[in-house]
Order: sequence, then C-alpha cells, then structure tokens
Amino acid sequence: MKKISVIATSFFLSLLFSQVCFSQSQSRIRTIIVDAGHGGNDQGAKGTYSTEAELTLKFAIKVGELLQQELPDTKIIQTRTSDITQSVREKAAFANENKGDLFVCIHVNAAPPIRHSKVTGYQNRVYYTGKGANRKKHTKKQPVYKRWTTPNPRYGTGTYVWAADRDVHKADAVSERFESEGELTDVPDPSTPEGAIASRLWVQKYFKNSVRLASMIESEFEKDGRKSDGVLQRNEKGIWVLQATNMPAVLIETGFITNKEEEDYLNSEKGQSEVSRAIVRAVVNFKNLLDSQRNGGIETSNAGVAPTNQANAANTPVSANE
Ligand SMILES: [Zn+2]
Repeated sequence: MKKISVIATSFFLSLLFSQVCFSQSQSRIRTIIVDAGHGGNDQGAKGTYSTEAELTLKFAIKVGELLQQELPDTKIIQTRTSDITQSVREKAAFANENKGDLFVCIHVNAAPPIRHSKVTGYQNRVYYTGKGANRKKHTKKQPVYKRWTTPNPRYGTGTYVWAADRDVHKADAVSERFESEGELTDVPDPSTPEGAIASRLWVQKYFKNSVRLASMIESEFEKDGRKSDGVLQRNEKGIWVLQATNMPAVLIETGFITNKEEEDYLNSEKGQSEVSRAIVRAVVNFKNLLDSQRNGGIETSNAGVAPTNQANAANTPVSANE
C-alpha cells in the first residue's frame, strides 16, 4: 500500500513537473532581460540632485523583483544590479548571450535648457584694415547681449522601438541567433536569399510585438495620470541596443529628470512604485496576450491595450507591414 502511494505520488509529481515544463515551453516569453540604462562612468542625464543611472537602477531592480513575483516560471535577468560601467554593446551582447525573448530597457529622459538672450546695450569694436601707410582704423557699433538659460519644462513618458530603417541591423542580429540556437534551425541558412527573407520576417514580427508592448506600457503610464508621448522611434546612441538585440525590444523613457517636478516624482516612493508597477502590468499583459494567441485563444480587448496610443502606433510602419 505504501509502495503504491509512493508510486502514485511520484507519478503525480512527474505529471505536475511535465505540466509546468509543458506550459513553460509553450510560452513565447521564457526569458526577460531587464536593462537599467547607463551606469558607472556613464551616469546619463543629470537632474539637480540625481542621475539617470541611479534612477534606472532603482527602477530595474523593482521591475525585476515584481516580474519574478508575477511570472515565477519566467527567467528574469538584469543586465546590471549595481553601479557598473556597461556599454550598449555589452548590454546587447549580454541580452543575446542569455537568449532573452524580450528586452526591456529603462531610461530617464532629459531636455536641453531653454536659451534666452536680450540686447542690453551697444559697444564700439575697433578693428584695422590694410598694411603700412594704408593701415586704417575702423570702429563698429555692436549690440551687447545678456544670455541666460531656464530649465526645460518638458515632462512625461515615451517608449521607443527601433527605427524602421534599422531593420537590416536587426535582421543581422536575428540571423546570428539562428546560427547559434538549435531551436531555430528550422529557419533557412541566413546567408541564402530564403534565409535572409526569413530573418526579415522575424524582424517584422518582433517589430510588431515591440510596438504592441510599447503601446501597452504607455497606456499603463496614462492610467497613473502621466502625460504620454506614446510609441516613438529614434536613431541615437542610446537606442542602439534596440536594433542589436535579437528579440522584441523596447526602451522606456520614464520621465524628464530636467523637470524639477518630475525629478522629484521619479525619486519619490510613489513615483518609484507607480512607474515600476506600470511597466510590470504591461509586460505581464503582453506575455499573457502572446501566450493566449499561441494557445489558440482569441485576442479580445485586453485590459493592457488602451486605444489612447493607437494613433501613435499607427504612425509607425507596423501598419504597413500588416
Ligand atoms: Zn538614457
């Protein structure tokens, strides 16, 4: 009897284990890379008392912890958990080596101070022309300016996806994954024309999903009353990680450190908690949506997808790809 119950228990356990493995292997998102932007020698944008690298690290740690609680079967990996120097190349390589299925990069925005100038008077400038006996003295009246700057009032959030003209680079990154990863070997050799097309199709799929997640993140921010610039595209140094990672990728600008009010919010308990929770809600909704589609579920109006950002998302080439 005892033997039977042991067999029954081990059978039940192995069934449970295979169920867990089954549901996990079914998920499209098994590994999520959370990246705290900048770090170490590169502190990123600066506010009046805090830096971008400090804030992104706090957010990334909170987001990582919350994601692990919400998605216990998903591997959550941080690019950094302390104030270390890490180039964008290292971040992208780290994400690719760890075979991430999603790259969530956290940043804080900055806007340049606004320059002002005013003519406060005039002064004569003396200059000479010619040489020797022909040398002549001139005077010219010139305005005197007072110049000063005031902080840029820009505030609010925005989530970036890679620019469509970077698809080629993204396809290169994806091709490298095909070569190194056994599970994707059903995809043709990327050096062949068929393979090149296949990797471009993967890129389009990743792009569509990145826009979808970016839009979900922004609508979660809006629910907390934040001003959202929606889904954006940009070609800049910091955005390079988006094209170099071989997975869907978003870069979240959580607010402007150059706006005093927003710097205070981002540093506050309330701001830390709201921003982290908004990101986590969007990522969890996004994962569930993808998994429900994969398992034959019907895509209904998911709570995470609010119509607010559709205008923005529609401006990106994703609609043309569909
Ligand atoms: Zn940044």
